[in-house]
Amino acid sequence: MSQDHLITLECTVCHNLNYQTKKNKKNTAKRLELMKYCKFDKKKTLHKETK
Ligand SMILES: [Zn+2]
Repeated sequence: MSQDHLITLECTVCHNLNYQTKKNKKNTAKRLELMKYCKFDKKKTLHKETK
């Protein structure tokens, strides 16, 4: 049985929802924070899991 949940990553600079990814709830209790390229800001920014 899969524990993966689909989550959305929001850019902390422009607040666009740029990425969707899966995370394993068992292993990742905390909110994800990833450095990802934002096409709106045209640079790498911090993206956080929404909701
Ligand atoms: Zn952005």
